[in-house]
Amino acid sequence: MFWRIVSFLACQFIGGTIGWFAASPTGMETTELEALALGVVLGGLVWFLIDASRGGHLLKWLRLGEFSEVALRAGLWGEASARVRRLVLDRDRLLRESQDRLQDFLLAFQASPNGVILLDAQGSIEWFNQTAAAHFGLDAQRDMLQHIGNLVREPSFVRYFAAQDFQQELLMPGRDSTLARPVRISVHLYPYGQGRLLLLSRDVTALEQADAMRRDFVANVSHEIRTPLTVLGGFVETLQTCSFTEQERDRYLALMAQQAERMQTLVSDLLTLSRLEGSPPPGTSNWIAMPALMRQLEQDGQALSAALHPAAASLHTLRFDCPLQDDLAGAGNELHSAMSNLLSNAIRYTPVGGDISVRWFLLPDGRAEFSVSDSGPGIAPEHLPRLTERFYRVDQSRSRDTGGTGLGLAIVKHVAQRHEAELRIESVLGKGSTFAIVFPAARHRAPQN
Ligand code: ADP
Repeated sequence: MFWRIVSFLACQFIGGTIGWFAASPTGMETTELEALALGVVLGGLVWFLIDASRGGHLLKWLRLGEFSEVALRAGLWGEASARVRRLVLDRDRLLRESQDRLQDFLLAFQASPNGVILLDAQGSIEWFNQTAAAHFGLDAQRDMLQHIGNLVREPSFVRYFAAQDFQQELLMPGRDSTLARPVRISVHLYPYGQGRLLLLSRDVTALEQADAMRRDFVANVSHEIRTPLTVLGGFVETLQTCSFTEQERDRYLALMAQQAERMQTLVSDLLTLSRLEGSPPPGTSNWIAMPALMRQLEQDGQALSAALHPAAASLHTLRFDCPLQDDLAGAGNELHSAMSNLLSNAIRYTPVGGDISVRWFLLPDGRAEFSVSDSGPGIAPEHLPRLTERFYRVDQSRSRDTGGTGLGLAIVKHVAQRHEAELRIESVLGKGSTFAIVFPAARHRAPQN
């Protein structure tokens, strides 16, 4: 401001001086004074014109909004333009920062595995992520600012939204839900800000399926245990209330022992399954000698065949063909359990006198295969995909009569998966079946002496 006054006075001084000297040669005193005054006024006017032009330049600069350079460098207008520029640049930086932060938040919401929808106080959609778009079939171009009630027409959702009671989540069928492939979505609305709503959605199909499987599993286990338990209870009661000959007593006790053994086998299979599910997969540092394992299986097989058919004149013909001598990497007890399950199934389901062939050999691609083939009844194609489900049986009574728990192939599948191996099942009804476990090349090696 000081320089502004100084420049104004300087202009007037220069104007007055020019007026004074311009009038001096005429020698008239009044005219000199008038010329001086006129010079001062003209000097002031010139200063004003220059100042107004600088002010106009500043205004034009503000209007254009081109703030990369200051409008003027010196004087009051220069300082004003520098300050305005700094303010504008600071505001731009803050705006950029808050936009970046908003963008980060939206990217985080976008990356969320849950669906996120932001609704305004009227229930119109302000923003949603891709997961929500998939859950509700929304389109980013078409559906922004539309009312959620117009887009999600599922009656349970309409009721939930209208009731305005968002304490509980809502479970509703997903958009692509069909009877064969049900999809379940969990929806929860959370009020925030001034009347706004945050909608979170989650695909809970897998969770619900796991829950249903757990319920089925508990029901199956209870059923499997209840049957032998009821039989045992009946025998105990009979033995307590009636008198029997020693022979009859022995027969009843033998039947009771059979039921107790059935329960023991079931519990042991259940424990094996839970161990397989709850422990880390076996590494490749422990090597099992396959020739010894094969000899063990052969002995077990002969014993089982004889135990199942004590009165038979000729038992099953068991053939062991093991051209591969390689060791196998994995957990010995698991591998023995899986392989003996396959052999025991072949013996139990193949009528006595039938052929059973066990092989351990190298495939052309370097993998190693353990297989059990039988000349038994075979399995119809529609059962094949379900054989490894727990408690799935093609023939209930045959399985139970021969001591089956319905868990054998589930155990085999688990063991195979834990050893990065593949379980293959081929069967022709009336001709026989082949169950094979194919191990990766890295899991077998020549025996080390
Ligand atoms: P289980 O204890 O009942 O044998 P598994 O899980 O071992 O249970 O087998 C499931 C079902 O697959 C069996 O109940 C049986 O119906 C069928 N199955 C398994 N192996 C054979 C086989 N070698 N031949 C015919 N059917 C078989």
